[in-house]
Amino acid sequence: MYDIIIIGAGPAGMTAAIYARRAAKSVLVLEAVNYGGQILNTPDIENYPLEAHISGFDFSTRVYEQAKGLGAEFVFEKAVEIRNAEGCKEVITQKSTYKAKAVILATGSENRKLGLEEEERLVGRGVSYCATCDGNFYRKKTVAVVGGGNTALEDALYMSDLAEKVYLIHRRDSFRGEETNAARLKERENVEILYNAKVTKLIAEKRLKEIEVTDTITGSVRTIELNGLFIAVGRVPENQNFASVIDLDDAGYVLAGEDCHTNCDGIFVAGDNRTKTLRQLVTATADGAMAATEAVKYLNN
Ligand code: NAP
Repeated sequence: MYDIIIIGAGPAGMTAAIYARRAAKSVLVLEAVNYGGQILNTPDIENYPLEAHISGFDFSTRVYEQAKGLGAEFVFEKAVEIRNAEGCKEVITQKSTYKAKAVILATGSENRKLGLEEEERLVGRGVSYCATCDGNFYRKKTVAVVGGGNTALEDALYMSDLAEKVYLIHRRDSFRGEETNAARLKERENVEILYNAKVTKLIAEKRLKEIEVTDTITGSVRTIELNGLFIAVGRVPENQNFASVIDLDDAGYVLAGEDCHTNCDGIFVAGDNRTKTLRQLVTATADGAMAATEAVKYLNN
């Protein structure tokens, strides 16, 4: 029986492990793939306090070593279910069942992919899912943003300040995102909006060089030369396995506020998989600290 099981070894989960160990609680971190989570894909983190530049890999490795050094146990198995049992929570993985008095769910969320050939290989080579993280690499270059939600509109605005030319490619003729953002974009001289348009092919050598864009009404196809493609077509939180014990919103995020409490006593949530407005490294680590502190209070009471 552990005091706390943390599901997910991204920045939120590993920070929670650090805080829980410093409060002298026994901690098991369950992780499906690698420690680090989504930040592993970021070649250069420039917006986290202290280090002006650090790769996602180096950042994750240092936090992992810090958590392990404090005595957190890591097991690389995918958690597939949480059960409320007598006096504890059971976390079921594909291989085993683990027990704890409290659980912190830090499973994060994935970027929704376009599902194009080569999309995965080109991440960091012209394809990005985060303008705030990678936009600076495209100063005075040509980029495209895909999507019609607030993230895509804000990414296009952000990139129009940096890049020479920004294409915004949306599959419909009206935006899902706020009109004020759309109106501001329409005033930008270096932004060209392509409505009813879908990216249907990525053309690359080592890096992305061109995209093929298909008009969804006429079927006509054009090719656009560019340096970067920012895909902002929503996110997919990884919570569905736990929906039987905690409440999710319509988009699948765990309903929770800044205190990281879920509707279920003894289950806390930290990071990108909870309802929040800013999903960044710094807010994920902040959640980890908060969720662990609340879990420790729960255990001590
Ligand atoms: P979103 O609102 O779900 O929008 C996703 C966009 O991507 C939609 O326009 C959708 O098109 C498009 N899309 C989805 N799948 C696609 C595909 N396979 N190919 C092409 N296009 C595709 O996601 P989001 O923009 O990331 O925003 C998520 C939430 O965070 C929203 O509630 C948003 O308001 C909020 N948010 C708020 C702020 C803010 O308040 N400042 C900033 C960012 C995000 P359709 O419209 O045709 O479905």
